[in-house]
Amino acid sequence: MSRFWSDLTHQLKPYVPGEQPKIADLVKLNTNESPTGPSPKAMAAIAAEAADSLRLYPDPEARALRETLARYHGVSPEQVFVGNGSDEVLAHAFAALLKRDAPLLFPDITYSFYPVYCGLFGIAFETVPLDDAMAVRVEDYRRPAGAIILPNPNAPTGVALSRAQIKQLLDEHPDVPVVIDEAYVDFGAESAIPLVAEHPNLLVVQTMSKSRALAGLRVGYAIGDAGLIEGLARVKDSFNSYPLGRPAQAGAIASVEDEAFFQASCAAVIAERGRLTAGLEALGFAVLPSSANFVFARHGARGGAELAAALRERAVIVRHFGAARTTDYLRITVGTDAQTQRLLTALGEILG
Ligand code: PMP
Repeated sequence: MSRFWSDLTHQLKPYVPGEQPKIADLVKLNTNESPTGPSPKAMAAIAAEAADSLRLYPDPEARALRETLARYHGVSPEQVFVGNGSDEVLAHAFAALLKRDAPLLFPDITYSFYPVYCGLFGIAFETVPLDDAMAVRVEDYRRPAGAIILPNPNAPTGVALSRAQIKQLLDEHPDVPVVIDEAYVDFGAESAIPLVAEHPNLLVVQTMSKSRALAGLRVGYAIGDAGLIEGLARVKDSFNSYPLGRPAQAGAIASVEDEAFFQASCAAVIAERGRLTAGLEALGFAVLPSSANFVFARHGARGGAELAAALRERAVIVRHFGAARTTDYLRITVGTDAQTQRLLTALGEILG
């Protein structure tokens, strides 16, 4: 390897995504994918687009999708930015908005992409510890900040702030960009989108990967003041002016238009989360209050790494994070009822 590449690879610590193993009859509860699937209307729209129009370039401004999202969220199309999954939208936000003179603040336990993007874009950051209940305390962000980013609900804890708490954070930081990453908001938390009208420094990022079951299509978006959105668009245009392919634009529009399916899917995940939580508690786990499509749970007597390995031997995959404060925890995606049963049976065997 040349000196140049080895220097670069030492500087950059890439994000390691959840694994996608090929094991027969696997219960895969490690990457917060939907256990069921997308709206049938979205699938039909994707198939129709693929059959008819792949020889044509997509709309580089994704106007129809942005108009659909604007109507849905009660904003104007100039306040909507779309990208290939919210990870790409976040990358543009880091590049365009979050490199400031003072450090970027985010929680010590949070989405592990944030420090990776800081490394990539040369952004100084400081982490703010979660409180004893593993929740974000808005008061702890009263310190010099160049910008702030938080997932709400937080990942991997699932614990959410209320809209009033996000408003307090915005009121206390009126002059720096604040990004709220709402990847999991549809599973019971309050979106900050209604605050955009009064807070031109707020950018809310959402994804179609979780509550809309379209992780494979790669559609994410941001909503904010038209000025912030213009900043993101400038960065995007410097990379690649096509935000999304035609099937992705068509499928995303059809998903947003199928509100009944969306509501039913979210309600099903929330109900299953209740059964999963009760089952884990019956086995002696403490489960953090989750507003997401996963739970973060700890068994007092057995470590997280040991439990994750024993589950894996039984073809059940969950996520374990090694950091000191999270080492006892498992992050478990809410699956189907049958998957919950397989998980609980396996844990029952392991715990004897
Ligand atoms: N934000 C958070 C907090 C996440 O957990 C994820 C999923 N790993 C993402 C953003 C990115 O999701 P996607 O790129 O699929 O939209």
